[in-house]
Order: sequence, then structure tokens, then C-alpha cells
Amino acid sequence: MISPMRIDESLQGASERLRFISDTALLDAQLLLAQVLKVTTSYFYSWPEKTLTDKEQFQFDVLLKRREQGEPIAYILGKQAFWTLDLEVSPCTLIPRADTECLVEAALTVLQAKGKQILDLGTGTGAIALALATECRDSEVLGVDLIADAVSLAKRNAASHQISNARFVQSRWFEQLAESSKFDLIVSNPPYIDPEDHHLSEGDVRFEPKTALVAENHGLADIEHIIEQAPTFLKAGGHLMFEHGYDQARAVRGLLIDAGFSDVQSVQDFGGNDRVTMG
Ligand code: GLN
Repeated sequence: MISPMRIDESLQGASERLRFISDTALLDAQLLLAQVLKVTTSYFYSWPEKTLTDKEQFQFDVLLKRREQGEPIAYILGKQAFWTLDLEVSPCTLIPRADTECLVEAALTVLQAKGKQILDLGTGTGAIALALATECRDSEVLGVDLIADAVSLAKRNAASHQISNARFVQSRWFEQLAESSKFDLIVSNPPYIDPEDHHLSEGDVRFEPKTALVAENHGLADIEHIIEQAPTFLKAGGHLMFEHGYDQARAVRGLLIDAGFSDVQSVQDFGGNDRVTMG
């Protein structure tokens, strides 16, 4: 029998353990313990002196061990906040990131009129598609993904937020779409990391699916493919918009211009890097 430990002591010990692998050790520890106790983290400020049962301590330790191995918090919790939504996540998709909210913001600026048709290529959790669907209730959003499990996950996320104007289908980019389908806006956060990038062996990305991260041709292969195919599926005056790497904006602008797109421009992420490019 382990002697009962107070919540504040337990969190302190846990945050010491996570210090070596996380810059947000205490927050990580709080999120994991909150999951075990089925409370929100504010509980720890109200009840620091409460003690944990043996079972709770054991369950907390199991989650801490996973985090110590480097597993992302979002995969351990099975959820991640994105835009106004709390989304279920799983290792079959990327974890939605704050930078991708810049793509949602940029998309909303070009979606002023109502009743638009929107396509999200490589939707993963459905994050971009669902954020746009909640913001534009009278638009129709179609999200596609190559991975069947991602399509099921995105559908569950739509259902749990009662979002009825987003649909999801399995497709490699445009492959399963009828050529008669036309969109006002096509968005994508495709794989864009160079296969040689050392970033792939660090932090959360080690646990994320390579199919969602890595693209040949210095990370540009999928963006090139989408730019080539997109004109068939865009309405006149429609927009195509990508998230891409912090150093790829010039290349992506060049590809869009070469393909005949006009009004080509980039917008910055929170770190001040050109992160989203549209035409
Ligand atoms: N922004 C992510 C990262 O650098 C990559 C996302 C992607 O490849 N689409 O970790």
C-alpha cells in the first residue's frame, strides 16, 4: 500500500519528472491528473490538500510514464482544442496546431458572402473543415482524407459538435471527387516537411503519422500536385489556400503564379513567418 499523497505534492513530483522532456512540465502534469480525476485543472487550486487513492496514483503514474517517453499530451488525453472546438485526436492524424488557426482566419476573410462550397484536402481530425463549418453555418464543407480512420474521426468530431454542414469522404486529394464538383474555396494543410528535416526526430512530430507530415521535393510535392489539379474543381473567382512551412512561402507563391493564379499573397503565423499562401 502506497501512503496517500496530497494533490499538490503529487503534481510537484510529476512536474519534476516531466521537466526533462517538456517545457510545460507542470501544465502537462495538471492535464494528466485532471484526466485521471475527471476534473478541470482549476480543481487543483481549490483542493491542493486532497489526497489521491492508490488507484488514482497508479493511473496517474501510467499516464506520466507515457509522457516521459515523449508521447504528445494530445494523444494521451485523446483531445486537443482548436478554434472554438474541443476535438478528439488519435495517432492516425496530426495534432491540430495554433498556426493552423491562421489558415482558418485567412479563409474567413475570403468567405464574406453566404452559401459557399468549401473543400478541405487532408482534413485529418476535421479541424479546419469543422472550424469553417461552425463559422459559416450556411456554407457546405467537404473534408477528404486518404486515411479511413481519419475520416471516421472527423465524422465523430462533427457529430459531437452537432455540425451538420460538414461531410467527410475518403479520397487521395481530388481522386474520388466528381469532376463536376466545384468549390468557392479549397483549403489544405498538406504534408510539407522535407524528408531530411531533423525536426522530424524531435518532440511531438516523432509520434505523428509521416503520411501527414512529409512530402518529397523538399516538402513541396503534395502542394504542387494540388495546385495542378485544383483549377478543375474551382469555381470562377474561387480561392486556393495552403498552410506550408515557414520558409516555403516564396516557392508556393511561385507555383501558384506559374499555374495562372492571380492575387497571390501570403499571411503570417503567430511567430511572424509567412505560413499561409493563397491565390
Ligand atoms: N506545422 C507542422 C510542424 O512543423 C507540420 C504540419 C504539416 O506537415 N502539415 O510540426
